[in-house]
Amino acid sequence: LTSAEEDVIERIEDEDVDFLRLQFTDILGTVKNVSVPARQAEKAFTEGIYFDGSSIEGFVRIQESDMRLVPDPETFAILPWRRTEDSAAARMICDVYDTSTGEPFEGDPRYVLKQALERADDLGYTVSAAPEPEFFMFEEDEDGRATTETADHGGYFDLAPKDLASDVRRDIIYGLEDMGFEIEASHHEVARGQYEINFEYDDALATADNVGTFRTVVRAIAAEHDLHATFMPKPIPKINGSGMHTHLSLMTEDGENAFHDEDDEFNLSGTAHSFLAGILEHAPAITAVANPTVNSYKRLVPGYEAPVYVAWSDRNRSALIRKPAARVPAASRIELRSPDPSCNPYLAFAAMIHAGLDGIEQDLEAPDPVRENIYEFDEQKRQEYGIETLPSNLGEAVDALEADETVYEALGDHVAPKFVEAKRQEFEEYLVDVSEWELDRYLETF
Ligand code: GLU
Ligand code: MG
Ligand code: MG
Repeated sequence: LTSAEEDVIERIEDEDVDFLRLQFTDILGTVKNVSVPARQAEKAFTEGIYFDGSSIEGFVRIQESDMRLVPDPETFAILPWRRTEDSAAARMICDVYDTSTGEPFEGDPRYVLKQALERADDLGYTVSAAPEPEFFMFEEDEDGRATTETADHGGYFDLAPKDLASDVRRDIIYGLEDMGFEIEASHHEVARGQYEINFEYDDALATADNVGTFRTVVRAIAAEHDLHATFMPKPIPKINGSGMHTHLSLMTEDGENAFHDEDDEFNLSGTAHSFLAGILEHAPAITAVANPTVNSYKRLVPGYEAPVYVAWSDRNRSALIRKPAARVPAASRIELRSPDPSCNPYLAFAAMIHAGLDGIEQDLEAPDPVRENIYEFDEQKRQEYGIETLPSNLGEAVDALEADETVYEALGDHVAPKFVEAKRQEFEEYLVDVSEWELDRYLETF
């Protein structure tokens, strides 16, 4: 065993852990669990735990259904909401292996992201990422089902007593801290019942792991308070939706921020400009991965602080990429504002990273930043500035993904076709559905 693995075994004993949840995600980003008695930890590290992968979304065909999970000891964490006086449950996030070849399984989203990080590494970089997941908390009805009634009526940065959910938010933060998160800030977002909790940036793999954990902890602790937390991008029309802005930067081998340049007007290096240009170039295809639900496109409309137009800015929030103010060189970074928290973070980060690295390899030049409010531009002005529009629905986004070799290949041979197929099917189901809106509008009119 490695020393990190030894540490895990010791903590299992010290903290009376009786069950281990071995976690991984499917293509859609849903966290899956295989629960094993904690005494199997050593075996899990050395041999892995076998499971039947045939029922996992997009994993394997029936005839080749055996998969092996190998836990990453760095991801060990005790589940705070499962602790009792003399027992505890813990989780570890796993890499998935194909039992027939012994190789990493290409359909594992964590592996897809690792491939992107390897490409960065070949160019001499590590990738830092920090997401800003937003979410709503809603009341439950008598049967415990989620409603869209919010538990509070506060607004941006409002505090108690208006913000009834602040107690819940405090518990969520304690829960996240118990699981090893460094919480930077937490605030009430613009919409009623909407929140954002920011955690410390980390390397992109750890951050993607953290997003899955974050969603699990938020939902579990909200549920303890009889609230339903949701990461659905646009649960309520005509008010802000929930984004998951993602801050990215590259670090060199000697730990310098490759995105920083003292002498540049925006403090961004040539590398950062090219990375940014790569993301702009591949933005429509990235959207399919970073905004993977029908509902995602109800958020990406003008007027609600979510991006619609492919441009960058050092000022305004209507652009797709923002350059946040950075007071220290280490903090120079770009913020991609399109992703929403319904995405699979591994795949979304992989798409962004490949797109950015492609920009670097091609030495792309970023266009000038746009400092005006792009929501107010008309078509002609957008054309004048050469500003394109993001896909307006999931179908268009998937078309863009298929047409973009860089981003399609970023997902790998296994995931890319499965993702496209699943998303096409989802979009087609939506197209043939008859919505509440249509009934309200037409049933009695015609
Ligand atoms: N909720 C907004 C969105 O959909 C973002 C608000 C903010 O700037 O934090 O992206
Ligand atoms: Mg926000
Ligand atoms: Mg932000």
